[in-house]
Amino acid sequence: MVHWRRPVSTIGARRIIGALGALYVALSVLRAFIGFNIGASTSRIFLITLVIAVSGFLLLYGAYWLPQSDINTKFHADIAGWCLVGFGTMAGLLILFHLQPEGGFSEPLTGIPILTALGSVGGLGVGVYDSQAKTQTRQLKQRANQQEAVAYLGQFALETDDLDDLMYESAREVADALDNDYCKVLDLDSENEELLLRQGVGWKKGIAGEATVSSIEADSQAAYTLANNHPIVVEDLETETRFSGPDLLRSHDVRSGISTIIGPFDEPWGILGTHDTDRQEFTEEDVNFVQSVANILADAIERAGKEQQLRERQAQLDMATEAASIGIWTWDIQKNVVTGDEYLAELYEMNPVIVTEGAPIEAFYDQIHEDEAEETKSEIKRAIEETGELKTEFRLKDGAITWVEIRGEVEYDVSGNPIRMHGTVADITERKEREQQLEQLVAELEESNERLEQFAYAASHDLQEPLRMVSSYLQLIDSRYDLNEEGEEFLEFAVDGAERMRSMIDGLLQYSRVETQGDPLEPVDLECILDDVRDNLQVTIEENNATIETEPLPRVQGDPDQLRQVFQNLLDNAIEYSDVQPTVHVTAERNGTDWIVSVEDEGIGINPEQQEQIFEVFQRGHSRSEGNGTGIGLALCERIIERHGGDIWVESEPGEGSTFSFLLPASSSQ
Ligand code: ADP
Repeated sequence: MVHWRRPVSTIGARRIIGALGALYVALSVLRAFIGFNIGASTSRIFLITLVIAVSGFLLLYGAYWLPQSDINTKFHADIAGWCLVGFGTMAGLLILFHLQPEGGFSEPLTGIPILTALGSVGGLGVGVYDSQAKTQTRQLKQRANQQEAVAYLGQFALETDDLDDLMYESAREVADALDNDYCKVLDLDSENEELLLRQGVGWKKGIAGEATVSSIEADSQAAYTLANNHPIVVEDLETETRFSGPDLLRSHDVRSGISTIIGPFDEPWGILGTHDTDRQEFTEEDVNFVQSVANILADAIERAGKEQQLRERQAQLDMATEAASIGIWTWDIQKNVVTGDEYLAELYEMNPVIVTEGAPIEAFYDQIHEDEAEETKSEIKRAIEETGELKTEFRLKDGAITWVEIRGEVEYDVSGNPIRMHGTVADITERKEREQQLEQLVAELEESNERLEQFAYAASHDLQEPLRMVSSYLQLIDSRYDLNEEGEEFLEFAVDGAERMRSMIDGLLQYSRVETQGDPLEPVDLECILDDVRDNLQVTIEENNATIETEPLPRVQGDPDQLRQVFQNLLDNAIEYSDVQPTVHVTAERNGTDWIVSVEDEGIGINPEQQEQIFEVFQRGHSRSEGNGTGIGLALCERIIERHGGDIWVESEPGEGSTFSFLLPASSSQ
């Protein structure tokens, strides 16, 4: 019957059936009129008229009912065709009957309308039955096609990484399964202003990737769908009132279709739309089918986005590891597979394919230098069983010495079983070499320091003897010879010089002995130390009329003799570099695990540029007229405090006074 579809659908199936119905209703009236005219009996007229009229009304009703029936519109033409066949068959039989030799109608005005009407109604019945069956078969076939299409697209989505390919395939499958002329995937731009026809089937050549559709609700089916957050079905675009058909649909004579959203409603990616040039009804299953395909697309788009993100992160990580010269690795503990990057493979001189694809941990253990192999393995074991973290250094065996540092973190499941360990590997050979060089340098420095100390000690010790001789002979000259005034004066200078030299040599001797001759550090009560110093300096204090004020002083960890020297030097200086009636404050302040002890005076102060220098050996900040000294006292204090692991510094304003402070570790017994 396919051959009559086109002419019938051009005229319209309903129009043909309706026209046939109207014809018989008119004929029934005409037949009644003729019946009355020829004087037939009323009952006969009634019966004949009734048969023709009822047939006519049945046909009219059929034409009216057709759009509301569940028969697919595609088969409406078939029903009209069947009516015409019924009509034609009956008419043909009547003609044959009329043409036979003894034929001829006794009453053609009764037989022809009745029989052709019944033929048409019969055709209508057969047509309806046939079309219903066809509709059902078509529906079943479509369902199967749709399921097949969804299954195929789901698989295709997993296999392809080309989104456009998937979009095209989806459009093709949807159009095929629904027997539609067009299908399209619209991509909503980031500003939500326009929808681009990204892929599709059926559309005019060259518009995919070019044509756009407005995203304003009233301007297109797609935009209306986006605004309403659910699939939109259009049966006839010509009578559509919710939105106007966009140019794209109008220029392709689209009349019906389904639009569904791709992606989440609150953040849609675009629209999947299928359209046909015929007016068409779509079932709920059809809508679900299109939505299923849209969901497959949404999943694939989301996955592609995540994969893209992952690729970007990987690229960033690669750049970071390359810039930091580190490699990364993961050890699947349960499967015992270690996978690493190319850096690791290069470092371990292993095949990069094996390392990137994964190898058992033993393959990596084999690369460790035998001296460190056991220790490294037990550190890894400890990380897994106890700490959860690994940081270890070892040499690789073979070739030039390569030191590597491995850092890792263990991942456990909910029951606390180790599942994975991942971390970094770095080539620390250079650092190790530097450390070794540094260690060697420190050792050399210590040795040279020791030699210097020995030299300073020996020199100052040995110098004492000739100096003593000079002093003794100067005294002999003084006692035995009667010198004139000038001679006496010269002798005084010589004695004074020898005396200063002796003090300097003494200072130097003390200085060189700070490290070697010091006592072990022990808890020391600074109050007692200060009392001793006060006693030692009693004469100086009295002579200078000095006052020493102290706050309670703490116990510290130190060498009592050396700390006595420190206090003595600082107090002596404080008195010496003050004008009249010196006042000195000794205070202590806690600083975490340390104490800061300060000796503050109100004396002549020190120029800022000299505040660093005065801690150096023989460096004096004032002329001899302002104070007597050798310039070794503060250097000695600094050396002692450094031996105690502390620090010493000065804060001073010329003319205002100075505060010397030193930091010492608190005594552990406090
Ligand atoms: P000196 O034997 O000359 O006192 P020090 O090493 O003890 O040697 O001191 C070095 C220099 O620091 C001194 O010459 C002096 O100029 C300066 N100085 C030290 N203590 C004070 C102070 N309390 N007030 C001002 N100047 C000081």
